[in-house]
Amino acid sequence: MESLAEHSDSLQAELLDFNLQLEQRVAERTAELEEAYHILEKMNENKSVFINLMAHELRTPLTVIKGHAQMLQSLISNMNNEIVERFVEGLVKGAERLEALVNSTLDVAKIENATLNLTQRSVYLWELFEPIEATYRKVLDARRLTLTVQVADLPPTLADAQLLHRTFDEMISNAIKYTPDGGQITVKGEIDAAEDVDAGETSFLHITVADTGIGIAPDHQQLIFEKFYQLGKVEVHSSSRTNYQGGGPGLGLAVARGIIEAHKGRIWVNSPGHDEAAYPGSTFHILLPLKVWEIEKHKD
Ligand code: ADP
Repeated sequence: MESLAEHSDSLQAELLDFNLQLEQRVAERTAELEEAYHILEKMNENKSVFINLMAHELRTPLTVIKGHAQMLQSLISNMNNEIVERFVEGLVKGAERLEALVNSTLDVAKIENATLNLTQRSVYLWELFEPIEATYRKVLDARRLTLTVQVADLPPTLADAQLLHRTFDEMISNAIKYTPDGGQITVKGEIDAAEDVDAGETSFLHITVADTGIGIAPDHQQLIFEKFYQLGKVEVHSSSRTNYQGGGPGLGLAVARGIIEAHKGRIWVNSPGHDEAAYPGSTFHILLPLKVWEIEKHKD
């Protein structure tokens, strides 16, 4: 009969063998997973290259279409033919939307490859909001939306004016899209001062864009900053007069986040939830870093 010692030895040998087999299986699975990861990484890279190439290729014919459509528009402007004018206006608007889409796609590619170059200078926020207000004046009036912008007292920040303009343009355009007629859009700014500059804390310009629109459910508040993520059915809550029916391709906030993060800032949204009857509203927050001297100089 097998002694206790012999039995324990054979058990130990079995355990050792089992452990070896387990380690080998784990090593095999890890190698398989690594290979799958590399394949996925390569596919993702190829996809980005393809999107980038595609967007570049589309840009050339699009510029020709837009240019010719605009020429046609000025040629027919004194023909007094309302129907032709309407068709040509549709052509110009379509070309402009397509151009914006192609540009956003290229921006997303640049943000993903970290090749978004910033051309920085001292920028006052009011410089950015003046042209934005002018761009949307017609649609704001038509939809009886009030846009209040309170940023005149803020110090300037070192930033890429064109890219920041795109970000705030996106915020306002979304607020218009997702707020019912007669609503309010309010832009405010303040300084979030660092408590301990010596410890390396940064001060920020804190800008909020608040609307009285349909709001955003908590589950979606992070996802909307991902590319190609969209939720809204604009026709549910906007009047039939709005130019924005159908929403966009879901790139706007992804680009906005990329731009703000390239400035070492932060962007997020607060909203009590989504409700197309009660309109709880949304508030987008943007933080942009401020240098101490920018605050000091502004006080003088
Ligand atoms: P797009 O407007 O092209 O769909 P965005 O990236 O700009 O894409 O926005 C993503 C989604 O976030 C939108 O589809 C919409 O559902 C939601 N969203 C953005 N801004 C607002 C807002 N101010 N109020 C309510 N929902 C919003």
